[in-house]
Amino acid sequence: MTDLKHSQTIAIADLRYASEVPAVPSDWVAPAGPLTDRLHRPLRDLRISVTDRCNFRCSYCMPREVFDKDYAYLPQSSLLSFEEIARLTKLFVAHGVEKIRLTGGEPLLRKNIEVLIHLLAQMRTPAGKPLDITLTTNGSLLAKKAQALKDAGLQRVTVSLDGLDDAVFRRMNDVDFPVADVLHGIEEAQRVGLAPLKINMVVKRGTNDHEIVNMARHFRGSGCVLRFIEYMDVGATNGWRMDEVLPSAQVVDRISEHFALQPLEASAPGETAERWRYIDGSGEIGVISSVTQAFCRDCNRARLSTEGKLFLCLFASRGHDLRALLRGTYSDEQIAGAIGQIWQQRSDRYSELRAAQAPDASRGARRVEMSYIGG
Ligand code: SAM
Ligand code: SF4
Ligand code: SF4
Repeated sequence: MTDLKHSQTIAIADLRYASEVPAVPSDWVAPAGPLTDRLHRPLRDLRISVTDRCNFRCSYCMPREVFDKDYAYLPQSSLLSFEEIARLTKLFVAHGVEKIRLTGGEPLLRKNIEVLIHLLAQMRTPAGKPLDITLTTNGSLLAKKAQALKDAGLQRVTVSLDGLDDAVFRRMNDVDFPVADVLHGIEEAQRVGLAPLKINMVVKRGTNDHEIVNMARHFRGSGCVLRFIEYMDVGATNGWRMDEVLPSAQVVDRISEHFALQPLEASAPGETAERWRYIDGSGEIGVISSVTQAFCRDCNRARLSTEGKLFLCLFASRGHDLRALLRGTYSDEQIAGAIGQIWQQRSDRYSELRAAQAPDASRGARRVEMSYIGG
């Protein structure tokens, strides 16, 4: 009999090398005000993927049928070094970036990641403020690493956890990893002060949606902010289907049946999560409705892949090869000019456009994988 998971998996189109070397403008003049794109969106948030490898095989991200032992990960020489990442980050900060999220793949698999965090923690915005530095992890190595991350200058972490039922969680990570070890990592992160912690749960209807209320109950009053993410059609390998998306509105309804909730204002422009608080004061939750309620209008996020390609949208199919500039003979000013020009030409708004299409119209489209450009 055909395994359902196998039959849903769509062959990978390797888009990692689809990129162009950006033009270095000779006459680019930095804008006097904030740098904005064609839809008047500033550049504030940079997500940096530090590895394309992971020790989990979440079916919605790195299905093991594709990411198997023969999968060609990027060779070490392709990866940006920490010095290269720091050099680029400085240029992004000069353009308005205030928030850095380290991601992957699994960022804690990158050797000596705390050295990079230390470099980033020294940087200041043009207004003299430290950067807001955070990291998204599957939590598997967090108990071991939390103290070193904190000491290096990391402020917060987001931990992905798709349920508390051990059997469900082991099936979703597809490497038989136990819930208890992730919970231990969360405890350690809280103990060393990597707070407030965010917990990300990707909700797949029919797979883990029955865990929503258990998760809400567990994290209420813990100081952690639990966020429910709609299962997205990122990449081209996860066999995404609209009928497996549970709209965030239903997540809020289900929790409200047990615990009264009240909406909160967004904490920052471009915030991806819609926030809700428990009326009894036991904390807040967030819902990220990437599929049912597009939030492209305020999207101020750029993504830097493990090998230094700049992507302007999670759903982009081409990147801009900044590594070619870094490893060429260009000055910081020239590379900053190239980045500025790329951002000024940006008009991406994939989710808004998808919302205007038939629900499944984007299935199988050519796009880079989330494990490559980072979530
Ligand atoms: N490995 C780390 C982790 O899992 O937290 C960081 C990288 S992961 C790509 C970043 C985030 O993307 C995670 O919270 C993950 O759950 C989320 N993610 C991955 N694939 C997704 C999908 N198809 N839909 C929605 N969220 C997804
Ligand atoms: Fe790995 Fe994170 Fe993707 Fe899961 S979501 S496979 S933990 S990169
Ligand atoms: Fe931003 Fe692209 Fe997501 Fe829209 S679809 S919010 S432009 S990353």
